[in-house]
Amino acid sequence: MRRATLRPDLAVLTMAGLLEARPRVGYFYSGKTPYMLIAEEIRHLKVMEVKSVPVVVTEDASVYDAIVALFTEDVGTLFIVTNDSCLVGAVSRKDLLKVALGQGDLHKIPVQVVMTRLANIITVSGEESVYDAASKLVVHEVDALPVVEVISEDSDREMLKVIGRFTKTTVVRIFVEMGEGR
Ligand code: ADP
Repeated sequence: MRRATLRPDLAVLTMAGLLEARPRVGYFYSGKTPYMLIAEEIRHLKVMEVKSVPVVVTEDASVYDAIVALFTEDVGTLFIVTNDSCLVGAVSRKDLLKVALGQGDLHKIPVQVVMTRLANIITVSGEESVYDAASKLVVHEVDALPVVEVISEDSDREMLKVIGRFTKTTVVRIFVEMGEGR
């Protein structure tokens, strides 16, 4: 079917993937339900295309510094990094709330003491799909994943550079954009 013979009134359905147009066949139902098309979209869309900028504090920060960063950067989770951006841990707002309820001087408690350490951090790469990333949020019951790049695997400890963040808010944003037909 040439472009000239494509029916403009069916263009929306063709673009949506519900109808297909073939030469000498004409229009036919693709067999895909709208749910299948959404599934295709979220398995196809890569984390790299939707990630936000990472919000990090360095490992020498205090709990007080981390709480201030949580407010100034308006996030719920901070990633803790070395001076050269290598991931060493994460703290959530509840980790910080818990330590703030104690008696200690928050300026003197290093964030490293309260963070979840690298060995237990769930990460995602930019090449993974948004479906895989969102599944990790659900399965591991966390609000945010650091988007990482492996910079060295040779030593006994893997070095990961933080290049972004993927959070529940990212998923909600994608959901709203899909709802708007974007
Ligand atoms: P909150 O504790 O504020 O409800 P989360 O559910 O995200 O927030 O965090 C739960 C726990 O998991 C916290 O102790 C936090 O340090 C840890 N955590 C946060 N992000 C991750 C992650 N990506 N991988 C593993 N643990 C994480």
